[in-house]
Amino acid sequence: MDLDWRVCSRARLSRDARFDGKFFIGVITSHVYCRSICPAPTAKEENVRYYPSAAAAAEAGFRPCLRCRPECSPGTRAWIGTPNTVSRALRLISECGLEAGGVEALAERLGVGSRRLRRLFLRHLGATPSAVAQTRRLHFAKKLIDETTLPMGQVAIASGFGCVRRFNAAIRKVYHRTPSQIRRLVRQKSPTPENEYFFRLRYRPPYQWGALLAFLEPRATPGVEEVTRAVYRRTISVNGSHGYFEISLDEAKHTLGVRVQLGDPRSLFFIIERIRAMFDLNADWAAIVGSLRCDHVLAKRVDAEPGLRVPGCWNGFELATRAILGQQITVKGATSLAGRLVRAFGQPFNATGNLTRLFPLPEVLADANLASIGLPAARAETIRSLARATCSGQVRFEGVVDADACLAHLTEIPGVGQWTAQYVAMRALGEPDAFPSGDLGLLRALDVSSSRELERRAEAWRPWRAYAAMYLWRMVTEGKAHGGKHASIKAKAAHLERAQDHKQASVAG
Ligand SMILES: [Zn+2]
Repeated sequence: MDLDWRVCSRARLSRDARFDGKFFIGVITSHVYCRSICPAPTAKEENVRYYPSAAAAAEAGFRPCLRCRPECSPGTRAWIGTPNTVSRALRLISECGLEAGGVEALAERLGVGSRRLRRLFLRHLGATPSAVAQTRRLHFAKKLIDETTLPMGQVAIASGFGCVRRFNAAIRKVYHRTPSQIRRLVRQKSPTPENEYFFRLRYRPPYQWGALLAFLEPRATPGVEEVTRAVYRRTISVNGSHGYFEISLDEAKHTLGVRVQLGDPRSLFFIIERIRAMFDLNADWAAIVGSLRCDHVLAKRVDAEPGLRVPGCWNGFELATRAILGQQITVKGATSLAGRLVRAFGQPFNATGNLTRLFPLPEVLADANLASIGLPAARAETIRSLARATCSGQVRFEGVVDADACLAHLTEIPGVGQWTAQYVAMRALGEPDAFPSGDLGLLRALDVSSSRELERRAEAWRPWRAYAAMYLWRMVTEGKAHGGKHASIKAKAAHLERAQDHKQASVAG
């Protein structure tokens, strides 16, 4: 474990929100563990211990603090220096928990021995994979107890405890209280409509919500997504249950407010984890900013708008489809095509306002007559091939262990080039270093003439090139691109589009 206690101590004493969730504080005198921002009176240094994960603090015998609620901190992520195996394992645990086979099955999927996986976890997170999974389950249960009015039986199932008895026992053991006693501690909130849930998800500041929405808004698929008055909304379908969610910012509390409307509360864990990924809530800005600031053009932009995130997606197939639709056309053109696709093939959805459709399933698009919406024949065939590959499991976007292998499968589809693959890696696989270097917008932003030149320059931004791409796109849309040689850049861009593998050159989106 490479926790620097001096850094932890400074963060604890100043209640620094930027460190929230990066480590946890065990207080020996009270036997509880806290976040760096805990409002309780500060304990003496000799009475505290620092842990790299909530699970490690729990394993050391501390109980979660009822004031700062460690379950509400931004997620633990794999920090710099953590081996790939650990970050992949964490991603799998957050996507699907520890499945039936437990640690053995997880290790097998990752291609390592289970003993080695345990050792790696202990070294980097201070807790075993099962302890990490158990803590996540417990934290989500606590969130449901505090933030919803779901009956306890449903809380038990939604948080993955399987039965009420095990759930009750686990909560009593950790909190020394029954679930109902914990719920009574929470100030009574106004009742929410049936099947509606409201959560607060923390991020580590800074967070550029406005800039993120400015990226999502022009790309919102009509009928499926919308951005209005600083709120993002979209329809969802999980395990046959349809609904929608909406996200808004509460800047003072460093949280996103999430309102979910769905008939089946068993999917809430999955939905919340997906939203966390979609809005990049685990990101650690302090770790990212260093590499971006060493480029003089990026530095200016980064200082003007610190904390821009890489938006993920709700569904990988949907994003990849959308990326293919956007090849070689403008963002606006791609959005209107996506709207037509959804109207023709998406299942109708009765909700509120402008959310009227679900995004079409791969099963539907696999044999769809896409020429009917005005899609060129080759592009239509690419989307059908993607849909078929997704149906057959040849291409998958969830539970991905090896992103490179996943992208290799994706580029086997005729019409899917490096640009599309890197864009999918950025937004559907959450690869922070993905970088669509053939993107015309990126070239234009820095006034460079070739993707090779751009790649050379981007070396310094590793492993955060996806964040750099977001800033560069932002510069282009804001009209603050570097240099005044627009005519020549335009000419270069046009040349590129023709000369390069035509699948590669595109403008994000
Ligand atoms: Zn606390």
